[in-house]
Amino acid sequence: MDKAVTGATLRDFATAVSDLILPRHCFVCGRRLALAERHLCLGCRSDLPYTHFWSQPHNPMADKYNARIREQVPHGVEEAYGHAAALLYYNSESGYKNIPQALKYRSALRLGREFADKLGERLAASEAFADVDVVIPVPLHWRRRWGRGYNQAAVIARQVAAALGARLCTDGLRRLRYTPSQTSVGMEKKASNVSDAFRVLRRVEARHILLIDDTFTTGSTLAACHRALREVYPPSVRISVATLSYVGP
Ligand SMILES: [Zn+2]
Repeated sequence: MDKAVTGATLRDFATAVSDLILPRHCFVCGRRLALAERHLCLGCRSDLPYTHFWSQPHNPMADKYNARIREQVPHGVEEAYGHAAALLYYNSESGYKNIPQALKYRSALRLGREFADKLGERLAASEAFADVDVVIPVPLHWRRRWGRGYNQAAVIARQVAAALGARLCTDGLRRLRYTPSQTSVGMEKKASNVSDAFRVLRRVEARHILLIDDTFTTGSTLAACHRALREVYPPSVRISVATLSYVGP
């Protein structure tokens, strides 16, 4: 028998046995997964709410991000329009929010990598992002990184950098302050908490930097990272952003 077929059959058999002991469920709707399904059921997979922001240079996320940047750039400094794209769009009640949340809080690294690959593929095919040469994830404070065991933004950034053929720089930025989790503070308080929370840790040669985070809500965290990078990189270096998800109304 063909070796590949034997391998696939054995894998299916192992999945079937482990499904009996510990059933797998769709991350989005919670329905029990069939043997051939992975992470998401077919229904949720066929209905993924893609933003298509990667093919629209002016989109709601980019407008929000650039508005934040304008607030913090000193008067008279020319700042190029920062590109911004997310893979998925949803509101706070959607089941699709479970994808970035499972990556962030439930160590669903394989799920995170699968969707980060999808984001990377789209960015690589986009004119706005194709020339990115350095990818920097939004860092966690070392205490949170230690507690969680990984930085979810770095998990995404690694896949995106590979898709873009860009350099991954996980120590490009450092988070100075340990801030309470986003869910426990108000939006305004959060913005003031993060506004000067980052510093450049290592400067690398770059023409177009891509900052990566898991979710874009108000843009305050990414704008704070932009601000820290601008203290070191001249305006000729473009700074764009990408996330797995964009949370809208
Ligand atoms: Zn489902």
